[in-house]
Amino acid sequence: MLNRRQFLGVVGASVSLPAATLRGSQANEWGASVFDLHFHLRGQPAANIAHLDGAGIANANLLTRASAVDQVTAVQTAAPGRFTWFCSADPSRPENVEALTQSVKAGARGFGEMKYHLTTDGPEFRRAYALAADLKVPILIHFQEVDHFENEGTWSPGFAKNFERILKAYPNTTFIGHADAFWANVSAAYHNEAAYPSGPIVRGGITDKLLGDYANLFGDLSANSGNNMLSRDPEFTADFLRRHQNKLLFGSDCGCTDGHGGGVGQTNNPAAARLAGKCVARETLTVLKRSASPQTFRKIVWDNAHTLLKLPASRNSQ
Ligand SMILES: [Zn+2]
Ligand SMILES: [Zn+2]
Repeated sequence: MLNRRQFLGVVGASVSLPAATLRGSQANEWGASVFDLHFHLRGQPAANIAHLDGAGIANANLLTRASAVDQVTAVQTAAPGRFTWFCSADPSRPENVEALTQSVKAGARGFGEMKYHLTTDGPEFRRAYALAADLKVPILIHFQEVDHFENEGTWSPGFAKNFERILKAYPNTTFIGHADAFWANVSAAYHNEAAYPSGPIVRGGITDKLLGDYANLFGDLSANSGNNMLSRDPEFTADFLRRHQNKLLFGSDCGCTDGHGGGVGQTNNPAAARLAGKCVARETLTVLKRSASPQTFRKIVWDNAHTLLKLPASRNSQ
């Protein structure tokens, strides 16, 4: 059987393929088509496609700077139908309200990732939350309070203490939480003592509670933080995925070159050394697949992202 590249070569780039045909070859490895919500834009179009193909991923959402629209267009042109995008810009700069607005008008489907040294409930982020509601797009936020390296500083600090107030104050804003503080706080026993806490999860953690209580909060399972949470306590993980099956989204945040762990040293993040030489996408898809029912797996790796990003349901497969 032809692989996708050979098939494209046979029919030629000018022919519009039925989407199901394209996905057919990509759906096999994981048993469902996979959408990577958290994929940072790479400079060369081919490098973006190489990671998806290598990891068995059909489509991805590119996380970019608001100024990257030309690069996004180049990637989308190189692989039609496979890439959506989010844009980010520092909300402490008033002119970025316009930059974010223009990006959404140009096709961005959300804000992200928003990773800034600004408090969760400060006026700068509040401006971004309000704008996301006005533009009807989700906002993906990196929450981190423990340094990965000396003097890194905190990103959106105040999650555990103040984020519920934000969810209440901005009911029309769709939030997607991500990173260390978001996932470590699935356990009630967490108090910022480590970036990636280990051991069994104590039920009743703030993130678990917020996902259950607020319709406007979703969770992005990408990066070492998401993988670490899913890997701590198999019994808890299966139950957590079942309970929040409509609120969780697969993402990789993987930096490997080939979808097989190539080029990843985690040197800037020694606490994540367990994933050195591994593809985060593959590691997290593996734990999701063994922990969730086929139906829940499909929601987390495909359906939920399509709903949240308002992608056509006809692109669903299998
Ligand atoms: Zn992040
Ligand atoms: Zn990878």
